[in-house]
Amino acid sequence: MKAWRLKEFNQPLSFEEIDDPVITDPTDVIIKIGGAGVCRTDLHLIEGIWDETLKTPLPFTIGHENAGWVHEIGSGVTTFEVGDPVIVHPVASCGKCLSCRAGEDMHCENLVFPGLTADGGYAEFLKTSERALIKLENGVEPKDVAPLADAGITAYRAVQKAAPLAKPGTKALLIGMGGLGHIAVQLMREFGNSDIIAMDTNEERLKLASDYGADESVLVKDGMIEEVLHLSEAKGVDLIIDLVGTDQTHEDSMKMLKKGGSYFVVGYGGALHVPSLNIINNEVNIVGSLVGNYNQLYELMKLHAKGKIHLHSTSYPLSEANEVLKKLDEGIINGRTVLVPE
Ligand SMILES: [Zn+2]
Ligand SMILES: [Zn+2]
Repeated sequence: MKAWRLKEFNQPLSFEEIDDPVITDPTDVIIKIGGAGVCRTDLHLIEGIWDETLKTPLPFTIGHENAGWVHEIGSGVTTFEVGDPVIVHPVASCGKCLSCRAGEDMHCENLVFPGLTADGGYAEFLKTSERALIKLENGVEPKDVAPLADAGITAYRAVQKAAPLAKPGTKALLIGMGGLGHIAVQLMREFGNSDIIAMDTNEERLKLASDYGADESVLVKDGMIEEVLHLSEAKGVDLIIDLVGTDQTHEDSMKMLKKGGSYFVVGYGGALHVPSLNIINNEVNIVGSLVGNYNQLYELMKLHAKGKIHLHSTSYPLSEANEVLKKLDEGIINGRTVLVPE
C-alpha cells in the first residue's frame, strides 16, 4: 500500500510503497482508511518534539485521526464485521490495566498510539484494536467525521473539564479557532453558560467562531490583552481554554485570567513559567487536558449525529499530505483538513 513515512525530523514526509499491515493479535482489526485528519501534532512529530517522551519509531507512518471501514478482523473480534464503517479512537488501549478499567484510555500503561508510536493513518490501511472502534451511524461518511477522532474529543474533554465552572455571568476565553477551536466553541455553547470570547490571528476563523456561537471575537494584535480585560470589566476572564499552547499564549493567558480563574492547557509546544507566588496569590488553577477517552468519543459521536456539532472540514487527496501540512504550518487553514486515499 501507499503510505506517508516520517523518516527524518524536520524533513518533508516521503510517499512510499510499504507492506500492508497484518493481524498479529486476535483482537487486531485492519481498517481501510476513508479519511485521516491532519493535525498540528503531525507537525510537532515532524519537528521531533515528541521524541523524548514517546521515542518516535522512525521511519513510520503518521496520522492519528482516522475513520474508515473494517477491512479484516482477528480471530477474537466479536463486535465488528468486515465492511462496518467506523471511527477510530486514537489509541489502542489494553483494557486490563487500572487506567483502562477506570475508562481512561489515554493513560493506559500498555498504550499503542497509531500515528505516534506505531504506523498511523496517512495510508490506505491502518492496524488498531477492536477496543478502539465506534460504529458510524447510517449515512455518515468516514471522511466527514475523521477529525472528531482527535480534534473533536480533545475539544470535548477540555470542555467537559471547564463546563462545570462555566456558570451564567462568567467569561470564557477560547484561544485558537482552528480545527479544535471551532468545535470547542460549539461544545461550550452546548455544555456551559459562560459568555464566550474567541481569540485568533485570523479574521476568517473568528467569523466561523461567531457563526458557531462565540459572543465576542478578539483578533491577536497589540492591545488584545487590554481588549479582553475590558470585555471582562477589567478583572480578567474566569476560564481560558488554550488550544494553541505557545510561550506567547501561556504568558498572555496569565495576564488575562481573573483571580481564582482556571487555565486549561490543550495546545502545546511552549513552556509555561509562573512564579508560585502568583499561583497562590491569584489562586489560579492550571489544568492539562489530553485527547479524550473512548466514552467521550462515543458521546461526541452521539451529539454529532443529533446535529449539535458541526465539523468544518475540507478533503484533499492522500497524495497531497505534504502540501496540506505546509498550509497548516502557515496558518492558512480554516477548520480541519482530511486526507482521503484515492
Ligand atoms: Zn491530533
Ligand atoms: Zn490499559
